[in-house]
Amino acid sequence: MILDGKATAAAIRASLRGDIEKDKARAGRAPCLAVILVGEDPASQVYVRNKENACADAGIDTVSYRKPASIPQAELEAFIAGLNADQDIDGILLQLPLPKGLDAQPCIDAISPEKDVDGLTAVNQGRVAMSVPGLRPCTPAGILALLDHYGISVSGKKAVVLGRSILVGRPIALMLGARGYDATVTMCHSRTPDLAAVCREADIVIAAIGKPRFVTADMIKHGAVVIDVGINRDENGKLCGDVDYENVAPLASAITPVPGGIGPMTISQLLVNTTQAWKEKLLTK
Ligand code: NAP
Repeated sequence: MILDGKATAAAIRASLRGDIEKDKARAGRAPCLAVILVGEDPASQVYVRNKENACADAGIDTVSYRKPASIPQAELEAFIAGLNADQDIDGILLQLPLPKGLDAQPCIDAISPEKDVDGLTAVNQGRVAMSVPGLRPCTPAGILALLDHYGISVSGKKAVVLGRSILVGRPIALMLGARGYDATVTMCHSRTPDLAAVCREADIVIAAIGKPRFVTADMIKHGAVVIDVGINRDENGKLCGDVDYENVAPLASAITPVPGGIGPMTISQLLVNTTQAWKEKLLTK
């Protein structure tokens, strides 16, 4: 089974559109996401445009701010503080990576946790670790939404996560192991010995390491679920994931493609989070 993130994300956007339409009059306005892009990185410009288009499709307003790469750290943090105080903004997206010379985590932590729709502040990461409600990081939440959509339960399964970043590996490992999901999780990294043997034990493999086609068929148990988070270019410049899709797919019971797997799910989760922040601010108080 191919887990189609593109189609699933489109279905999520359609459902959000309905939700937003229904509650807009009561809230007084549509949800609104502030998007901050610092510098001129071409890949970041594409990502930001895709996110803005997805927002428009779901009925979420966006306000875009472009800042020069030369912006001082304090000025960027003060700008974010201003958006925190703006009652017409529900979510703040700071596109990463930031240009050299800017320290990302203090800028992320300058975002109010209630507007942190990327779920990357220390507060929201802490909420993941404690398994209490909060805005969840988009890629891990997108992975769980895709598994839910296809009715794949992780309860009682052995999950192996490759990668331990705060963006993907660490939070997805915590979320899979939380009460309600109840997987038994092993989180691996670049110093894990005999990774292939660890992976072969897994019912679910989640690859988030950023190495083209690193996960090969000999690392996968027959019937495993394989989630490929990686977005890489191979030696010919072709887009590919962390998994050797061609050779792993015949073994897997379910697998995500790249592109069209976790990428679109990550964006749809940003919209889910922005809508959640809007509802919490305007509808539940
Ligand atoms: P990252 O911050 O660079 O972290 C990579 C992780 O992989 C690290 O924990 C690293 O271990 C581990 N690793 C590297 N080489 C390894 C190896 N040979 N064996 C085992 N572990 C290894 O990357 P990231 O931000 O998590 O992103 C990972 C990938 O996902 C990238 O391709 C990125 O583009 C992609 N991504 C996709 C989406 C999406 O929407 N689809 C979203 C976010 C990221 P150490 O900690 O030991 O260094």
